[in-house]
Amino acid sequence: MTNTKTIAIVGAGQAGAQAAQSLRNEGYDGRLFLIGDEPQAPYQRPPLSKKYLSGEFEAERLALLPDKFYTDSAIDCLFGVRADNLDLDASEIQLSDGFKISYDQLLITTGSRSRALPIPGSHLEGVYALRSIADVDQLRPNVQSGQRVSIIGGGYIGLEVAAVARSLGLDVRVIEAADRIMARTAPEVVSRYFTDLHRSNGVAFELGAGVQSISRSEEGELSVATTAGTFASDWVLVGIGGQANVELGQAAGLTMDNGIAVDAHCQTSAANVFAAGDCTSFPSAKYGRRIRLESVQNAIDQAKVAALSLLGKGEAYDPVPWFWSDQYDTKFQIAGLSQFADEQVVRGDPASGSFAVAHLRDNKLISVDAINTPRDYMLARRMVPTTSEVDRAALADPTTPLKETIQTA
Ligand code: FAD
Ligand code: NAP
Repeated sequence: MTNTKTIAIVGAGQAGAQAAQSLRNEGYDGRLFLIGDEPQAPYQRPPLSKKYLSGEFEAERLALLPDKFYTDSAIDCLFGVRADNLDLDASEIQLSDGFKISYDQLLITTGSRSRALPIPGSHLEGVYALRSIADVDQLRPNVQSGQRVSIIGGGYIGLEVAAVARSLGLDVRVIEAADRIMARTAPEVVSRYFTDLHRSNGVAFELGAGVQSISRSEEGELSVATTAGTFASDWVLVGIGGQANVELGQAAGLTMDNGIAVDAHCQTSAANVFAAGDCTSFPSAKYGRRIRLESVQNAIDQAKVAALSLLGKGEAYDPVPWFWSDQYDTKFQIAGLSQFADEQVVRGDPASGSFAVAHLRDNKLISVDAINTPRDYMLARRMVPTTSEVDRAALADPTTPLKETIQTA
């Protein structure tokens, strides 16, 4: 090693692993620390609420990189160790094991955590969150046919767990505060489709229900009291959203803006400190505002840009975000951000089980939700947000390929 520089990455998840890999691929041969508070090497989270929960995947299949990668790439892995404090003036990290690390450059990839439910009883035994391998290992013994589970939150985690639980014969009730599921991320027609899909698989819904408390009876049964009634359960899953892990950077004095504020090169308000993944918000030229994303795409792509920035190789991050969710045999794929749309066009009949929703802003396509229509999704990822207006009649016709719905001048 000829390079005497030290880069430290704090947070050994999807973004941290990608950044370490990209730094080595780009030829960085200085010292490289990867610090993570979980005991495992970085792993994929998406299967946690899908095939790892159902038992189809073993823990070994979750690893993002083989163990050999870390040794072969001379990465100093500090797993099971928390970064407790950051001294930006001294460029030093205080670790939970008592050691300090000095760095020349720092990358923060601390991700996000499950939002806590602020009601009495939310810390009772049998009430679970789902963010990590440890979380799933703790709750999985309860995933047994005949068990009654109340799922608080009808978002991605809640619905993916509902699908797995029903497939394994559990009695499932989803309690959602909004009047429809996935209200923040999906249009009404998609919420309706998934509500019907889950109902036809035997899931009960309480929509528009405020959760008030959770208690345990002397017989050991959990009761979830809501504005829609009280529901007896053997266990409870809370999936009410994520919260960025910003405290380390915030206490050190980094600028915050719905996450650690970074520029298009992943630089924070400190010259030698960069950040990537769930914990950041970044300026999106495509959408004309700052956004914070919690997705695999964002963690991977932003980490690649951060690695280049650490090496002084400029590349601006301005992605077309994409997401997916697997529920039963239905594949839900999303390209672009629909929340800025002013109009929607449905392509195909939801009753057929295969349709897409095109989201428009000023008559231009900005996002597509694809339900069992991978072709629309793949095209949309390459197209959105478009700068030309759409032909609505063509757009509403699912037999017209998406790319032929854009009007050429
Ligand atoms: P993380 O992967 O969360 O990694 C951050 C790491 O930093 C964690 O290990 C954390 O413990 C650690 N850390 C935090 N603070 C410190 C500290 N002070 N010191 C040391 N370590 C620290 N996205 C999709 O696009 N599609 C999906 O289908 C999908 N499914 C998901 C299913 C589940 C159950 C969950 C929980 C998430 C899912 N996501 C999905 C979201 C996706 O996994 C995240 O967006 C992604 O993991 C973010 O990567 P990250 O590196 O920013 O954060
Ligand atoms: P989420 O998708 O934001 O869904 C949380 C849901 O819970 C929302 O519908 C929310 O409604 C509702 N809610 C909030 N407070 C509630 C309360 N007190 N009672 C009942 N419902 C309440 O978050 P998540 O499902 O918990 O997922 C957490 C993170 O993991 C996110 O980053 C998510 O993107 C990621 N994840 C992604 C996938 C995927 O992409 N397939 C899968 C799993 C997890 P409001 O919107 O009205 O607040």
